[in-house]
Amino acid sequence: MTGSLHTVFHSTAFVLTRDLVIAALVALWLGLAFRTHRDAKRRVDDGWLVGLATLVGLVPIAGPLVYLMFRPPETLEEAHARHVEIRAIEERLGRAEARCPICRTVVEQSYLVCPVCTTALKEPCAECKAPLEPLWQACPYCATPVGTAVTVDLDTALTAETASLATAKRKREPSRPRAVQ
Ligand SMILES: [Zn+2]
Ligand SMILES: [Zn+2]
Repeated sequence: MTGSLHTVFHSTAFVLTRDLVIAALVALWLGLAFRTHRDAKRRVDDGWLVGLATLVGLVPIAGPLVYLMFRPPETLEEAHARHVEIRAIEERLGRAEARCPICRTVVEQSYLVCPVCTTALKEPCAECKAPLEPLWQACPYCATPVGTAVTVDLDTALTAETASLATAKRKREPSRPRAVQ
C-alpha cells in the first residue's frame, strides 16, 4: 500500500499535473498583479501610489481584492473628461450671468444701472428706452440708429435752448419800457 502510494506521488503524470497547477497559480498571481498595476496606472496620477498599488496587487488573491475596494472610482481619462465638461458648463453659465463691472453684483440683461452701486451699465434707446449694448449701432427693437438718435436729440435740445433764450429775451425787452413807465 505504502509502496503503491509512493509510486503514485512519483509517477510522471502526477509530477506533470502538479507542475502545471503550480504554473497556472503563478500565472494567475502574476497576471492579477500585472492587471492591478495597469489599472492603477490608468486611475492614479502619482508614481509612488501606483507602485504601492502594484505591491498590494502582488499579495496573492487578497491583494487585488483589497485594491478593487480602495481604487479611485474613475480613470484619469474619465476625470479629465468630467473637468472639461464642468468648465464648459461654467463658461456657459458665466456668459448668461452678467455682473456689474464695479461691484460684481449679478445684474439682469435689461438693467440700465447697477441697482447696488448705481454704475451705468447700458444706454437706453432714445426712441423706445430699451437697454442697448455699448457696441450696438442701432436699437434692435425699434430700428433707431444709435448715433443718429443722439444727434437728433442734440439738435432738439439746441433748438429748444435757442427758443427758450429767444423767449426770455422777448420777455425781458418789453419789460424794460414797462419798468420805466
Ligand atoms: Zn454695481
Ligand atoms: Zn429703440
